Amino acid sequence: MEHDYFPTSYVEILARVAAIDPVKYGQSRNYLDGAVTRLSPYISRGVISTHFVYDSLLQQNFDFPAVEKLVQELAWRDYWQLIWVERQAAIEADLRSPQLPVVSFGLPVAFQTASTCVEAIDAGIQKLYSTGYMHNHMRMYVASLVCNFAHCHWKEPARWMYYHLLDGDWASNVLSWQWVAGSNSNKKYVFNQENLNKYSGSAQRKTFLDTEYEDLPLSTVPAEFHQVSSPELSCMLPLTSLPELDHSLPLLIYTSYNLDPVWQVDIAANRILLLEPSHFANYPVSEKVLRFIFSLSANIKDLKVFVGEFSELKNAYTGDLIRYKEHPFSSHFTGIEDKRSWLTTVSGEHSSFFAYWKKAKRQLE
Ligand SMILES: Cc1cc2nc3c(=O)[nH]c(=O)nc-3n(C[C@H](O)[C@H](O)[C@H](O)COP(=O)(O)OP(=O)(O)OC[C@H]3O[C@@H](n4cnc5c(N)ncnc54)[C@H](O)[C@@H]3O)c2cc1C
Repeated sequence: MEHDYFPTSYVEILARVAAIDPVKYGQSRNYLDGAVTRLSPYISRGVISTHFVYDSLLQQNFDFPAVEKLVQELAWRDYWQLIWVERQAAIEADLRSPQLPVVSFGLPVAFQTASTCVEAIDAGIQKLYSTGYMHNHMRMYVASLVCNFAHCHWKEPARWMYYHLLDGDWASNVLSWQWVAGSNSNKKYVFNQENLNKYSGSAQRKTFLDTEYEDLPLSTVPAEFHQVSSPELSCMLPLTSLPELDHSLPLLIYTSYNLDPVWQVDIAANRILLLEPSHFANYPVSEKVLRFIFSLSANIKDLKVFVGEFSELKNAYTGDLIRYKEHPFSSHFTGIEDKRSWLTTVSGEHSSFFAYWKKAKRQLE
């Protein structure tokens, strides 16, 4: 079944949160078969929050040292989101320093077709296509090969990965790509075959990665990556007409990143899932991702889907209360803006993750 890997009913999502083993997580998260939570699609889509996951760990009576590694990872998401809130459109380009060198702006065809000749990488890309998920370490390997071995600029490849990820989160996505590529960090991330074999369980040898770090081919693009093109990222939204509205009731706007079933659940309201064509033209997602969004939206009672722009919905509504949740992609909405739930109250941009984490940890411990 399509959603076996990522069930979409709220009850099953809560069960996944309750089943986390934070100790095993801390010991194995870097391994591709490690005890990762696979909660990101639900957090990215706003079904649950980082704070909700943290609270539920505490309710299970884990003490802070036992959950620290996992909570630190949750904090990475908030850290990237806070940078986005602060820097807005600046994250769309090289944030701290130019990515150098760059020889092309597409994505090597070998990644698009999962035929890089590195078996574990090809398996990771196949898995992305079949499940809409890729392990964090595999994302780092792929981004490193694309940016630091094939010398492609990070932006177009990031859009390709975002297109296929059920957990697409623009901040985590582009800021992580930039972290790997060195435009949002002090050092590019590179790896060799030995490292890949250790964490993936692969036994492959004799690839271009099968050398000591100092001998990695970082100045000449490997032959496997010479053919580069722009990936085809078409996004087919369904056609809808304007939904019927009860103008005496508030209008609550849900989006593909706010699918929280308990948000304002106790009030009578028009509940509209707004999918803006202008947004999806700039940030396309695959059919699989769209189906996932629709399945998650089934957790919200009486939700109607409207494919159109915020301005059209606003013009059609004669009532006096529009409500939505804060998110950088919703900065053009008007009405009452509810706050998102964050892990801590630490806000603003920090010079590094650890500068942010130091403050966050003080609140969490
Ligand atoms: C190149 C690249 C692109 C990425 N793109 C996205 C993206 O589009 N959407 C997305 O949600 N994450 C992205 N990440 C971050 C990370 O890979 C995923 O959040 C993580 O793999 C999700 O799987 P999980 O829920 O099993 O994670 P777990 O390891 O179980 O972690 C638990 C939670 O902590 C958070 N988290 C863990 N690692 C990170 C991280 N490195 N950065 C931010 N948050 C983290 C997530 O909310 C995750 O659900 C990207 C990382 C890289 C290197």
